Amino acid sequence: MGIRGRFAPSPTGEMHLGNAWTALLAWLQVRSQGGTMILRIEDLDPERSKPAYVSQLYEDLRWLGLDWDEGPDSGGADGPYHQAERRDLYQQALVRLTDLGLIYQCFCTRAEIRDAALAPNGIETGLEYPGTCRFLSERQREEKRGEGRRPALRIKVPDELISFNDLCQGMFRQNLAKQVGDFTVQRADGIHAYQLAVVVDDGLMRISHVLRGDDLLASTPRQIWLYNLLHLPVPQFAHVPLLYGADGHRLSKRHGDLAIAALRQTGVKAEKIIGYLAFLAGILPCIEPVAARELIPEFQLERLSVKPIRVDVSQVLSLKG
Ligand code: GLU
Repeated sequence: MGIRGRFAPSPTGEMHLGNAWTALLAWLQVRSQGGTMILRIEDLDPERSKPAYVSQLYEDLRWLGLDWDEGPDSGGADGPYHQAERRDLYQQALVRLTDLGLIYQCFCTRAEIRDAALAPNGIETGLEYPGTCRFLSERQREEKRGEGRRPALRIKVPDELISFNDLCQGMFRQNLAKQVGDFTVQRADGIHAYQLAVVVDDGLMRISHVLRGDDLLASTPRQIWLYNLLHLPVPQFAHVPLLYGADGHRLSKRHGDLAIAALRQTGVKAEKIIGYLAFLAGILPCIEPVAARELIPEFQLERLSVKPIRVDVSQVLSLKG
């Protein structure tokens, strides 16, 4: 049986070269092992997600030659494939975690969290949250609710080392209590947190291989811990280096000229973009046009360097014709 992998884009902006990079690598990992590719739209946040970006995503991915077997438009046994339609599943998981006695209400504002993350001497504790609300009495909680504060929900993390072997980055270890702190599983506005949703989704969709940007490497130990608590199968992880612009920032919406739609409009062909990305990935020795499917037999994750990769816009734009 082949592997099961996924693309999980958030439709909060136009797809750019950096998204195409992770999509291509995730697709090649699956296709080179005769696996099943799943497209999941991570539209958890209704304010930031826009339907127009979803249709644009379909168009961009197809234009690049990256297809999928299960997804919102193609169906499949493990749908729905929009996070916005999976809230009941996240809620069920939250109930299970609550039954385990691990969830508490947190009334802290962003500013309070920022201040609390500093030790009394003003030095960063390195924790995202030092557990301020973990020890509130029921009375204190009632008082806070009385002040009209709406709580987020956090989970109590263990003082335990979690390690895993990343297919790109090698061994990664983290102590959740000492390096992360209790993290949010539901925001104060009722939206479930990414960390919870992604585990429920990848677990229930039986994803065996997660390939994504290395900005999520440090989120993985808390996700592994959640998989285990929820008795969901833990996938293999591969965290690939991100692409950076000439300004030193990782590619994002601000690099509008590197949006896939913008490149297409300026006359760049899909095969050239794929060829450029394949060169960056060490699959091709030089930049030459290639269809994504032609790379399938050549793909080896081991050839990928783990260093951040800087993209030269002029090199991309000179790919025209
Ligand atoms: N939705 C996230 C993103 O677009 C990816 C999350 C993941 O791959 O786990 O950055």
